[in-house]
Amino acid sequence: MTSSFSNLSLAEPLARAVAEMGYESMTPIQEQAIPVVLTGQDVMGAAQTGTGKTAAFSLPLLQRLLKHENSSTSPARHPVRALVLLPTRELADQVAQQIALYAKHTKLRSTVVFGGMDMKPQTLELKKGVEVLVATPGRLLDHIEAKNAVLNQVEYVVLDEADRMLDIGFLPDLQRILSYLPKTRTTLLFSATFSPEIKRLAGSYLQNPITIEVARPNETASTVEQRFYSANDDDKRRAIHQVLKTRGIKQAFIFVNSKLGCARLARSLEREGLKTAALHGDKSQDERLKALEAFKKGEVDLLVCTDVAARGLDIKDVPAVFNFDVPFNAEDYVHRIGRTGRAGASGLAVTLVSGSDARLVADIEKLIKKKIDLEAVEYDEDQPRGRINDGRRAWREAGETGDGRDAISSGPRRERERERGDFRGGRESRETREQHRGFRPAAVSRDPFFEKPYEASAGVDAAPAWEAAKSAPRSSVSANIKPKRKVAALFKAVSPETSTQ
Ligand code: AMP
Repeated sequence: MTSSFSNLSLAEPLARAVAEMGYESMTPIQEQAIPVVLTGQDVMGAAQTGTGKTAAFSLPLLQRLLKHENSSTSPARHPVRALVLLPTRELADQVAQQIALYAKHTKLRSTVVFGGMDMKPQTLELKKGVEVLVATPGRLLDHIEAKNAVLNQVEYVVLDEADRMLDIGFLPDLQRILSYLPKTRTTLLFSATFSPEIKRLAGSYLQNPITIEVARPNETASTVEQRFYSANDDDKRRAIHQVLKTRGIKQAFIFVNSKLGCARLARSLEREGLKTAALHGDKSQDERLKALEAFKKGEVDLLVCTDVAARGLDIKDVPAVFNFDVPFNAEDYVHRIGRTGRAGASGLAVTLVSGSDARLVADIEKLIKKKIDLEAVEYDEDQPRGRINDGRRAWREAGETGDGRDAISSGPRRERERERGDFRGGRESRETREQHRGFRPAAVSRDPFFEKPYEASAGVDAAPAWEAAKSAPRSSVSANIKPKRKVAALFKAVSPETSTQ
């Protein structure tokens, strides 16, 4: 098998674009998928964002569409030939930018439509005619209903991040969209995991697909050290401080399950002396990009984020990932910890488990097929319990009713749906669209975050804030952590009522 693009016989305009991108060799998913997609076969690919899968499907797809290339100004000569569906606007924007770069020396046109933006500019683009349409399902249906998008000449459809789309509840939308497409077509499905639902979707819409896996699905990298610590909600921040200190970790992602929890945690950690930024769905695109930039520059040590906000961001190889909340979906655990330990580097993934998380932890155990041992954190004397409690008082003073109500108890599913800007139907959808009305995709060449991988900043060798704040000598991990206890043993003590969400 070749690893060089030059052996692929890509058409000159595509080969030139690849060379301009500076790609030297193909990534594993590209090596495997490009030759298959070039033959027009259906593909079921297990690959996450960051593996180079956008080029893996878009280069061969563009190559096959070159026969339709023309410079006519008539929209009729530019029908939609390829449809790429993604779950979120960020991903759609990111993929569309990449496709535009790969197609820039061809006459093939591409555009993107997603929720949270005025439909008019999108309509104008669609009416001019485009060969490659990148879209989120909800907004695409709006355009289909408004007769702005006609899909009866689609030859290729890509269901990217398919597990996410099902997770959000896009299955009915996907089914409707697929019903508008010609039966004879190539369908490419990419998913980080092959759950039974994904297999069912593939069974219904793919024909004799070739299965391609770059890392076995549901498998976590062996370079990631996975630790599960028992911590009740009041002790979780203290546990973070302790682990950061004992492991000498300078930068980390901290995942939480809700937007509200994300904002609260970021505020509290900031108050406790850690340089922290929050990344969640209520932040504007500009705020998100600023937070990311600050993290990449090392101006921020901790990025507290929700799954959706972090999804698809091209930040690789973060030294450590914390799960402040155990994710509701075990697949999210795999996504989250995939942020660390990349490319052979060692990484640390710490999950803080409270008494009510038994079922969620059992789900993770089943998915990753590894026994999970729950450990106890042994705290140094100087760990700032008082400060943490002050933080909790401050939350209460700020009021936990109304907008400040507990997001998890108000419905995690709804919270997750709101998080995605493309949720269709109901009040949330319209409100979210209103909120994001001002959002515009970044110009193709102006978005540095999606174009370069995460690199530790020059300044990260300096002592991090939590080190500087402490004078006590550092103790080793082994001295701080009690012998392992089995999860089952701990959870036996949990009553049935508290063991469910
Ligand atoms: P993706 O998984 O498609 O989101 O790609 C992740 C990142 O990898 C993007 O920034 C791409 O520009 C980059 N990339 C894709 N293919 C290659 C390659 N063969 N060599 C180097 N970088 C690549």
